[in-house]
Amino acid sequence: MLTTFFGEEHEIFRKTLREWVQKELVPHVDRWEKAELFDRDVFTKAGQMGFLGCHYPEDVGGSGGDYWYSVVWGEELVRSSCAGVNMALAVQSDMATPIINDIGTRYHKDEFLVPAIKGEKIAALGVSEPNCGSDVASIRTTARRVGDEYVINGSKCWITNGTRADFITLAVRTGEAGYGGISLVLFPTNVKGFKVTKKIHKAGNHSSDTAELSFEDCHIPVKNLLGEENHGFYYIMTNFQGERLIAAVKAVAGAQWALDNTIRYCQERTAFGRPILKFQVWRHTFAELATEIEAARWLTYRACDLFNRKQDATKEITMAKLFAGELLNKVTDRCLQAHGGFGYSDEFPISRQWRDSRLITIGGGTSEIMKEILSKRLGWG
Ligand SMILES: Cc1cc2nc3c(=O)[nH]c(=O)nc-3n(C[C@H](O)[C@H](O)[C@H](O)COP(=O)(O)OP(=O)(O)OC[C@H]3O[C@@H](n4cnc5c(N)ncnc54)[C@H](O)[C@@H]3O)c2cc1C
Repeated sequence: MLTTFFGEEHEIFRKTLREWVQKELVPHVDRWEKAELFDRDVFTKAGQMGFLGCHYPEDVGGSGGDYWYSVVWGEELVRSSCAGVNMALAVQSDMATPIINDIGTRYHKDEFLVPAIKGEKIAALGVSEPNCGSDVASIRTTARRVGDEYVINGSKCWITNGTRADFITLAVRTGEAGYGGISLVLFPTNVKGFKVTKKIHKAGNHSSDTAELSFEDCHIPVKNLLGEENHGFYYIMTNFQGERLIAAVKAVAGAQWALDNTIRYCQERTAFGRPILKFQVWRHTFAELATEIEAARWLTYRACDLFNRKQDATKEITMAKLFAGELLNKVTDRCLQAHGGFGYSDEFPISRQWRDSRLITIGGGTSEIMKEILSKRLGWG
């Protein structure tokens, strides 16, 4: 393992996490995939081990570690070969909650972040709506201020952890049309008028619940506003950086995991009297993929290093999400092919990895949106 960014403590954390994934996740994955939901106590178990707060400060119940602990967290989870659970846990630790730590009040932290880090409250991030995903500035869910409350009406779509979240970091319209009228609020789901309208059945990530939600005259206190009113678009874009970075980390680790398993398979499986790996076409394919994975890893680590040092990493994170995401699709597709018929069956994890990985170039901002951001950042968009 690399020592440039990971010290001894990170490696001890990695070892603990690797054993935990083997013990607490791997034996249950087939059952969870069939049930289209994993056991709720995975959140509490992960919280008790300190995994959900490895990079959060101690005053909110975290371990006070640097961002490289989060990288280890993302990398090791892929060894479950179950992106559904990994995604749900990443929403809890790296997508719905970082913004609370960044700009939340003590009340926000005590009420929402601390129990999320403990795994006692399940968190979700509610930005996308039935009519808009890429175009965040067009969201229609409204929060009308009445006295010291907001009254929320509208709907959200594609919300991970949505069927059982205890709270949602929710994007709402509090002002004018466009990006200048959006705010972020912390929405407790036990409020009257909130409904899970649909559990969405998906091509992959079966263990993870994804929901359509509706809000009908839901009253929440104004103190649940995160940061300043109508500054939400900026907060969402800031929050996206961590979300996209952990997605890139997982994509690289997932590609490596798929390749390692496939090479092992091709050493054992024979055709025409020799192992598949002895065919030059496959050796060369794997050599190319290994090279591209290494390139993706270093691009991603460069972004992680900047992010960890709180430098502007937008360009590097966007490139990492784009490059590692597209690569994961390519690697899992080639690896499935190298498995032949078994690759298309449920008997080997590659079939699940192949269908799960298809999400990476869509969720958290599509590859096309990454290219739009880059062309603007690089000065020609
Ligand atoms: C399994 C799953 C889990 C998800 N979890 C969450 C979650 O927890 N919280 C949440 O808020 N959202 C979540 N999402 C939503 C996700 O972020 C959106 O699906 C994504 O941002 C794309 O939005 P869209 O689906 O509305 O696609 P659209 O915006 O309708 O895009 C359709 C196509 O048009 C392309 N396109 C759009 N605009 C442009 C452009 N300017 N230039 C070129 N091409 C363009 C897109 O790239 C895409 O290929 C999840 C989605 C899935 C599938």
